[in-house]
Amino acid sequence: MPQAMIHDPHPPASTSDDRFPLLRQEAARCVACGLCLPHCPTYRKTLNEADSPRGRIFLMAALLEHKLPLSPQLVGHLDLCLGCRACENACPSKVRYGQLVDGVRAWIEPGRQRPWRQILLRRVLFDTTSRPRLLQGAGWLLRALRRPSPPVAGTYPAQGAARGVVGLFLGCVARLSDAETLHAAVFVLNQLGYAVQVAPRQTCCGALHDHGGERETAQRLARENRTAFAGLDLQVIVHAASGCGATLAEYTPPLAAPVLDISAFLAAAEGWEQVTLAPLEQTIAVHEPCLSRNVLHDQDAPYALLRRIPGATITALAGNDQCCGAAGIYALTQPEMAGKLLRDKIDDIKTSGACTIATSNPGCAMHLANGLRAEGWKVEVLHPVTLVARQMGYTK
Ligand code: SF4
Ligand code: SF4
Repeated sequence: MPQAMIHDPHPPASTSDDRFPLLRQEAARCVACGLCLPHCPTYRKTLNEADSPRGRIFLMAALLEHKLPLSPQLVGHLDLCLGCRACENACPSKVRYGQLVDGVRAWIEPGRQRPWRQILLRRVLFDTTSRPRLLQGAGWLLRALRRPSPPVAGTYPAQGAARGVVGLFLGCVARLSDAETLHAAVFVLNQLGYAVQVAPRQTCCGALHDHGGERETAQRLARENRTAFAGLDLQVIVHAASGCGATLAEYTPPLAAPVLDISAFLAAAEGWEQVTLAPLEQTIAVHEPCLSRNVLHDQDAPYALLRRIPGATITALAGNDQCCGAAGIYALTQPEMAGKLLRDKIDDIKTSGACTIATSNPGCAMHLANGLRAEGWKVEVLHPVTLVARQMGYTK
């Protein structure tokens, strides 16, 4: 169960010391033990204290207390943070690093300088993702020019004995870029006896905006999603993207029904006795997205789901404790560090012997697939539910 959110106001009307007591209190909970350092991907690469969780907390505390100015160097160390939250898992003092860094990013955003390319990139990404229905309209047009592909919308009735109604969270970019996963999720749920309802007015989860210093937009999107799912009689809302899931799970107040990763729901679902999965004699390596491991703690669910495929060997990808470098828009804003982290993943995939990589986050899937394609390495990267759906007879 997530703790209550830190609710310091931002963007600030002034920067007087007493405006941000909760952020300062959170930073003060760090006892500087350093136990988080070996878990931090950026520190492991640079070995620079300022690129570690402890160093960043020190810098944020100094900023909040006006002991250091908002210099490009300081901002650079904060920007290099992936937001993977591996440090939170390792911290004996339970410092809520993710909320702290997001709060500080929102606080400094009005006062920081950005190159015009970054300003343009942020506007395009943040404005389009916060209007997913417009994005979807553009996607339909593009698809219509190639081949028709139905959007995920409406209500999908259960097959056989009805076991309940499940809500499906679409995401913003993923409803276009990863529609196959969403259709596969609907297929598997229906086959097991669960009807699926797609709340029509749901929007982006707000993760990109919250992690990028645009908390007012993030809060508006959270309000819109709360309204979109209110009044629907759902036993659960499932998502197929751990990045979205971590944000939805931390909404305060929460959505009208519990939020669960699709693999976690399916691993414990009923109805498996009424379906047949075709055998698949191959090794499938599971890539565990950071927010699944460090926030949702549901990283075991894809293994349990994939083990339902007869003949498949399910293994953990080496280096699952380290971020792949996708991290929202990080691969675009910090390409050098993202490339180094991707390099490690590609090497791990090559030595795994796996024919397929299963990951529960579409951003990671895209990042890994791009890296593999660039090297001509023929390994398929897809969501666990897509793989299970295919073995149940689902075709695009
Ligand atoms: S969120 Fe990840 S990258 Fe950022 S300080 Fe924590 S461990 Fe390091
Ligand atoms: S483990 Fe926690 S208390 Fe220790 S240095 Fe890291 S953030 Fe601070």
